Amino acid sequence: MKSDGGQKEIKKIKKPKSVSGAMWRYFVLLAILLTVLIEVVFFIIVSNTFENQARDRITSIGREVEAQLRNPFELEESIYRNRREGVNVLLVSRDWEVVAPRDYDEAMGGIDNVKERLVALERVGMSEVFRASGNIYYVSCAEYIGKPHYLLVSYSLSIVQDTVRNLQIYLLLIGIGVVFIAFLVSSVFSSKITSGLKTMSDSAVRLAKRDYKVEFNNVDYQELAKLSDTLNYVRDEVKKSEDFQREILANVTHDLKTPLTMIKAYASMIKEISGDDKVKREKHIQVIIDEADRLTGLVNDVLSVSKLQSNIDALNFKVFNLTELVYGIINKFGYLQESQGYNLMVDIDANIYTRADEEKISQVIYNLLGNAANYTGEDKTVFISLKTSMDGKRVKFSVRDTGKGIAREELDEIWNRYYRVKENHTRPVKGTGLGLNIVKAILENHSFDFGVDSELGAGSTFWIDFPCVPSEL
Ligand code: ADP
Repeated sequence: MKSDGGQKEIKKIKKPKSVSGAMWRYFVLLAILLTVLIEVVFFIIVSNTFENQARDRITSIGREVEAQLRNPFELEESIYRNRREGVNVLLVSRDWEVVAPRDYDEAMGGIDNVKERLVALERVGMSEVFRASGNIYYVSCAEYIGKPHYLLVSYSLSIVQDTVRNLQIYLLLIGIGVVFIAFLVSSVFSSKITSGLKTMSDSAVRLAKRDYKVEFNNVDYQELAKLSDTLNYVRDEVKKSEDFQREILANVTHDLKTPLTMIKAYASMIKEISGDDKVKREKHIQVIIDEADRLTGLVNDVLSVSKLQSNIDALNFKVFNLTELVYGIINKFGYLQESQGYNLMVDIDANIYTRADEEKISQVIYNLLGNAANYTGEDKTVFISLKTSMDGKRVKFSVRDTGKGIAREELDEIWNRYYRVKENHTRPVKGTGLGLNIVKAILENHSFDFGVDSELGAGSTFWIDFPCVPSEL
């Protein structure tokens, strides 16, 4: 008990999320993630590319200047030209005196922080490209007026960094714009979906109030269209089931009323009229017994249908002698032969065994024989056969009558509950309109093939295909 209460509480606490809220969150989260990802990737790619380009440029300028060392005039001019493009070139003697440019002053950038690297260049021709304190350097040891000097070419990365920073700001603004657009799109989109769901939920409420005219017709999205189809299907099934319940109630009460009225009428007749007349009394009592039997049959049929419907009666498979079972049922109909002039023609193979629920199969065969007797023609003949197939693996049971037959359009209907072909027939066995439905349910539960072949004016043949099994199984 306690744990149940706990579970209920947990269920209560978990509040369902709203679709629009969730969609909004996911959209915005996605937009933020994408923006951040693009920014990071952009930053890595751009700064690396810029730096690599700067290194290449500095190196090529360094090589160019090295070539110009032979001509001091050309050297000065090249230094000024490069300075205009943001590249500083210095020529320093080995005792740290700046040889070029002539207008050098400390503000142009000292050499102290790269002195160690310069010292490492021991021989003429050695060079190195590196990054230090926000600059890219190309340093080399080169010969100038017959002596080794240090050449120092530097380029400040601050221009690159400024560009990257500006781009980042733009990207950030774009990101904010994207998030805002994502918010708008998600709002429009989610309101479209939720309005569809809301309409469906309203329709479902109408369905719950038994308004079967309600239509679920949302076809905007595949999933909602599928849900609409399912709900339309549910509506049809609920309606069918309700119709069936109403129908069954009407039919059962109607079918109960007739025999009950008869029983009451005949009992009164015995009491008031036939009491002392033995012959009359016997006749009247027989009517009461017949009507009581009919009532029992009806109640049993209704019970069978509801049991089969709810599947509570599991099948009890076993191997049994089908020949004997069929003969046993034919014998029960013997009274028709004796008292009412019926001809039951049989063509039955001996000792055929099958595997099924014997009691249920007996119910099926009984129903089919009863129907054939009810609906056969003037000659009152019913043909019953049980024949094995050529390979001996199957056995076909069939009951044929010579009645009016069943119209093609009614062939499928007769298996439905309470379906009765309009026309009346002579009925030695009282029917309830449930017989064939029970037959169908039982045979379907067994997964046996069955059917009816019928021709108007020539009669009908109901058949079942049983598996044939050896007797010792
Ligand atoms: P019922 O109790 O009315 O016989 P069933 O479910 O057994 O109910 O049969 C349903 C309907 O199918 C019958 O009312 C009858 O119209 C038709 N039907 C069944 N068997 C035959 C048959 N052998 N020949 C003609 N019609 C038949």
